[in-house]
Amino acid sequence: MIGIGILGGAFDPIHYGHLLAAERAREEFGLKKVIFVPTASPPHKEEPEAAPQDRYRLVESAIKDNPYFLVSDCEIKRGGKSYSKDTLEELKLEWGESAQIFLILGADAASDIAAWKKIEEIPELGRFIVVNRPDFALTIDRIYLPYTRFLKIPGLDISSTEIRNRIKQGQSIKYLVPPEVEEYITAHKLYSTRA
Ligand code: ATP
Ligand code: MG
Repeated sequence: MIGIGILGGAFDPIHYGHLLAAERAREEFGLKKVIFVPTASPPHKEEPEAAPQDRYRLVESAIKDNPYFLVSDCEIKRGGKSYSKDTLEELKLEWGESAQIFLILGADAASDIAAWKKIEEIPELGRFIVVNRPDFALTIDRIYLPYTRFLKIPGLDISSTEIRNRIKQGQSIKYLVPPEVEEYITAHKLYSTRA
């Protein structure tokens, strides 16, 4: 059985909080790969600010030095609202029955799973790895506990929202995102117009 991690998100933009969570989950659970899956349109959130192609390219540039990391455009290609169940089914087909899929979630995302579409079908398809996130309390429904592993990582109090706000205010995002991500954002003038 090989373990495959999936980290879904808007990645608007990707930052070191995402990367550290993925790397620690990979190491702790011996995952063969971690696949970053940028959403087309997240079901429970506002539309991302950057275009799907830009968010995909940002992820691609951020993970290129890590041989265990991959990015998938399956949700962007599918379009519309992105549901984890559809993504799990698609990746399971791609990786075969011998793959055990782990959905990696920060504490905030894990607290929302009860609202997911067809959540009752997810345990047949994969397991959850939940990591701590500063300022977010974890309130996971106990019925998912048998399918959930918890992983303590160094808390990085970084969010994409904070990064977008800092850019709008002309503040530095150095050391919050990899240099390649900062370069892409600057070159494509992302996030700089005030709402
Ligand atoms: P936004 O502020 O736009 O919501 P975000 O920083 O929360 O962005 P998302 O793309 O929404 O990033 O998150 C994708 C996944 O990564 C979620 O499971 C989320 O919990 C997790 N995650 C994001 N930031 C961190 C962090 N700093 N530490 C741990 N997990 C994180
Ligand atoms: Mg978020």
